[in-house]
Amino acid sequence: MSRPSVAFIDLDALVHNYRVLAAHVQRDAGAGARRVIAVVKANAYGHGALPAALALERAGADILACADVDEGVALREGGVRCRILVFGSLSLSDLDGIFTHGLIPSVSTPTAANALQAAARARGARVRYHLKIDTGMNRVGFRHDNLARTAPDVLAAPNLELEAVYTHYATADVPGDPRFESQQRRFAEALQALAGMGARPEWTHAANSAAIFAGPETWFGGVRPGLALYGAMPSGGPGQPALRPVLHLRTRVAALKGIRPGDGVGYGARFVADSPRTVAILPLGYADGIDRRMEGRGHVLVRDRRAPIVGSVCMDMIAADVTGLPAEVGDEVVVVGRQGGEAITIIEVADQVGTIPYELLCRVGPRIERIYNQAG
Ligand SMILES: *Cc1c(COP(=O)(O)O)cnc(C)c1O
Repeated sequence: MSRPSVAFIDLDALVHNYRVLAAHVQRDAGAGARRVIAVVKANAYGHGALPAALALERAGADILACADVDEGVALREGGVRCRILVFGSLSLSDLDGIFTHGLIPSVSTPTAANALQAAARARGARVRYHLKIDTGMNRVGFRHDNLARTAPDVLAAPNLELEAVYTHYATADVPGDPRFESQQRRFAEALQALAGMGARPEWTHAANSAAIFAGPETWFGGVRPGLALYGAMPSGGPGQPALRPVLHLRTRVAALKGIRPGDGVGYGARFVADSPRTVAILPLGYADGIDRRMEGRGHVLVRDRRAPIVGSVCMDMIAADVTGLPAEVGDEVVVVGRQGGEAITIIEVADQVGTIPYELLCRVGPRIERIYNQAG
């Protein structure tokens, strides 16, 4: 392929982020190292699941996580050998892949537990699973305050073997939210209740990226970073791991256009030049994940300078005002990343358009070729 718009995926940065996070969470770990589940769901947050997974595996990750069975099967078929946890609700999925591709299921509801037990018995197999406790997110998971009724059956299922117990925080990224602490307390209580029923999980895990940054009391026996692995968190303060952005989105100037006063640019002609302007036409648009709200808000980097995005974000094109810059057709343009002394982060863009970096990363479209360096 030779389209000019590409996402450069810096696997060295991914491995760096994995290593600094893994080292960071050993703080106050006591006996036994805290484990890191590297989250590569949703095509590794748009970065490309297989290259990201293989780089993490080479970096020593012993367990990855994906959203559903199909994602896990695709990783296995691509050659990933390390352990793979499936987060998703199993009750609706085809369970075959769990057995044929050696995936670790999450058991999040009694219905899913029954289905898994039946499938395991039918195959004469024993399955190790992670039990998910709902401590306040109120999506899936066994309710923390109802375990006396719901847990005994799954714990007694003859073909199921409990490996770990986990929960997921709803407000780890909301400063000062009391529900964050209450979820930690509920999880600790749930672990005690399960122990009282004879459950002996090898380990426990709870923290997403925001909780990793919040501190050790939220980490339990292991952590599950996604966004932080991709370097799309605001850089931490003192004592926090310094992360590097993994995705760099670049294109090239496809055409330059002289605009006369009174001319409008793009659909709706919402940008109207009040003086002679030069705009650079860039070959990527909302089909590639460029948010339409970047019109009049966002910037790109051209010739080491910020150039504002003007006129409508179209399906396949955007325009940037490069008046006064020595821009030429073919010049490299940075949409997310660095050029010269300037940088545009995915965090900045998410703020501009009123969304979160997660969404923007996941939306980098299939027409954008991902180019990888070799993590080493
Ligand atoms: C996506 C996900 C994570 C990772 O969350 P980040 O905020 O990206 O770190 C962790 N745990 C579960 C259960 C998830 O679904």
